[in-house]
Amino acid sequence: MAIETSAPASPLDRPAQFLKGVGPTRAELLARLGIHTARDLLFHIPRRYEDASTVTPIARLSVGQDATVIGEVISKGVLPTRTRLRVFQAVVRDESGSVECAWPGQPFLDRVFDTGDVVLITGPVRYFHGRRLQLQPREYVHLGRADQGGGNLAGKVLPIYPATEGLSQRMIRSLIDAHLDALLEYVAREDPLPESQRRGAGVARLDQALALLHRPASLSDAERGRTRLAYDELFFLQLLHARARERAARARPGIAFRRRNDLVRPAYRQLPFELTRAQTRAISEIFADMTSPRRMHRLLQGDVGSGKTVVALFAMLLAVENSYQAALMAPTEILAEQHARTIAKLLEGLPVNVALLTGGLPTRERREVLESMASGNAHIVVGTHALIQDAVAFRRLGLAVVDEQHRFGVRQRVALADMGENPDLLVMSATPIPRSLALTLYGDLDLSILDERPAGRKPVRTSMAGERARDRIYQFIRKEVARGRQAYIVFPLVEESEKVDLRAATAEYERLAGETFVGLRLGLLHGQLSGEEKDRVMRDFAAGELDVLVATTVIEVGIDVPNATVMVVEHAERFGLSQLHQLRGRIGRGGEQSYCILIASGESRARLRTLVETDDGFAIAQEDLRLRGMGDFFGARQHGLPEFRYVDFMRDHAILERARQDAAAIVALDAELTSPAHRGFRAILSTRYAERERLYDVG
Ligand code: ADP
Ligand code: MG
Repeated sequence: MAIETSAPASPLDRPAQFLKGVGPTRAELLARLGIHTARDLLFHIPRRYEDASTVTPIARLSVGQDATVIGEVISKGVLPTRTRLRVFQAVVRDESGSVECAWPGQPFLDRVFDTGDVVLITGPVRYFHGRRLQLQPREYVHLGRADQGGGNLAGKVLPIYPATEGLSQRMIRSLIDAHLDALLEYVAREDPLPESQRRGAGVARLDQALALLHRPASLSDAERGRTRLAYDELFFLQLLHARARERAARARPGIAFRRRNDLVRPAYRQLPFELTRAQTRAISEIFADMTSPRRMHRLLQGDVGSGKTVVALFAMLLAVENSYQAALMAPTEILAEQHARTIAKLLEGLPVNVALLTGGLPTRERREVLESMASGNAHIVVGTHALIQDAVAFRRLGLAVVDEQHRFGVRQRVALADMGENPDLLVMSATPIPRSLALTLYGDLDLSILDERPAGRKPVRTSMAGERARDRIYQFIRKEVARGRQAYIVFPLVEESEKVDLRAATAEYERLAGETFVGLRLGLLHGQLSGEEKDRVMRDFAAGELDVLVATTVIEVGIDVPNATVMVVEHAERFGLSQLHQLRGRIGRGGEQSYCILIASGESRARLRTLVETDDGFAIAQEDLRLRGMGDFFGARQHGLPEFRYVDFMRDHAILERARQDAAAIVALDAELTSPAHRGFRAILSTRYAERERLYDVG
């Protein structure tokens, strides 16, 4: 253990080990919960609360319910079972009745529970042997002894803390209780928010908030405490973003492009379709940014199929007609290729050179592309991560576009922009999220939204099916193929079970190709193929040389094959709603009626209902967020997202807005945060967001 040589800044930063009641052993257990210092202990806030309103009288338990009960242990014991699994059982009684609780495989609990203990137990209620009700505890908390009047929650709120083996609820609760008052005194002295700001936002003092969280008199008390911590989280992130924007706008002027119209207009004239109103609006917002000397930092958000690529194309043309180069970075080779093709087609006959740079290029071609980029001969360069590698250089990059930006981190976005001298930056995203959330997560960017799809598309018909419908589904695919259409069959592939999933998809492909679809042309696409192989399969499918594409979720992103009219998703229950919506966006791109069929087990279908009912990506995202929470919603797909411990995006709209305004107001007056009232903010920002500050150049 290292020896402290200088006094820590605040008693709150003292290692938890030196708190009374914590020795080396407990310190290790606390560390498992992420508690290293006294401050961490204070901020170890309850996961949830129980009060009289959340507890069910035992007589009213019903099967299928996830219930919390409080009662006295009246009997207990360990039962052997046929499978040698030993089950600890306890019967718990309250005034209304009694219920059996069973913990399979946890015989040691016999030493933890005593008859006469009052316990709170939470878990699902099941039938046992088809008759008796049984509670299957997920969690238990000791409340005291029955003969000492323990367990009466009337008028009380019980905090439930995250606990860990060897460190029970009771220990954590009493540890926090023992130190709370002393620690709160220190917190009172270092509340980062001045009183005026707290009052304006309507949030509690930090020490009060923590007191409310640990010892609430009511659930609304606890909520008031949480709100303060959520405000802090939002405010400092917004402050970081506001500073980044300020810096981008003033300290580093961008390029003031001029409307020359020698490319934009002719390209517009030869478009094979009319732009939607939303596209026109987004283009004019982008042009306004680009023609101002301010550097553009804009996020273009639009549902799948809303036509973001064309919008980006016009932005790139404005750069090119000003003798600058433009770069478009996509997350996969397939997508980069497709963009290059689409763009070349839309620009046919115009004097614009489009180059493609991906990792899979043969050495000679790669050298040629690099040369044309360096000489300025390549006007628009489309590529993958390969664009931001060391050996790559542009002669004069004026605009950097990042497609499907959620696949990239902030670092890569910045790296692409660094290929030029303060080029304008446009990032695009097909994960539509509520505006307020977008402004929080991507607050360093201005926002344009495509909330409209090109006219003339028939909405995709979505249905759900079970295993039994399989034969009919295959017949349907054959029928569509006979009419000249194409189909996707998609399998889930998640990181945790990647190998198994891949095997499943491959085996199924072989079965389909060898039996079900004999005579049809099938292709298999998955992430383990080389870039070249993937491209070949995708190119064949796009060219109509394959009838059915069996694929893992590599096709999720951006693929555009208008002739494909069927999308079958296997194990749809393993996908998030937004992800399914993205997948569905691969069809319905041509003039023909398209069909999306979600194969899922009966019980999971309720969750997927939203997809059948609406085609509005924003509504679907909202529902997905509600069901899964932020973490799972963005999951592994989203990189470089800030973490939120206290914010609840479904509830915190008002303080979110407030935090944003407060941060903007402060930066408008004191961007460098030098006034005494704001100086403390800087230190907090640089501890929390060191890397982002560096990337945004606002350190
Ligand atoms: P996304 O926003 O999902 O990236 P794309 O840019 O790939 O969408 O566009 C989807 C398809 O719609 C492409 O085939 C594109 O050519 C076409 N498209 C784009 N804008 C329009 C429009 N205004 N009218 C008709 N089709 C359009
Ligand atoms: Mg796209």
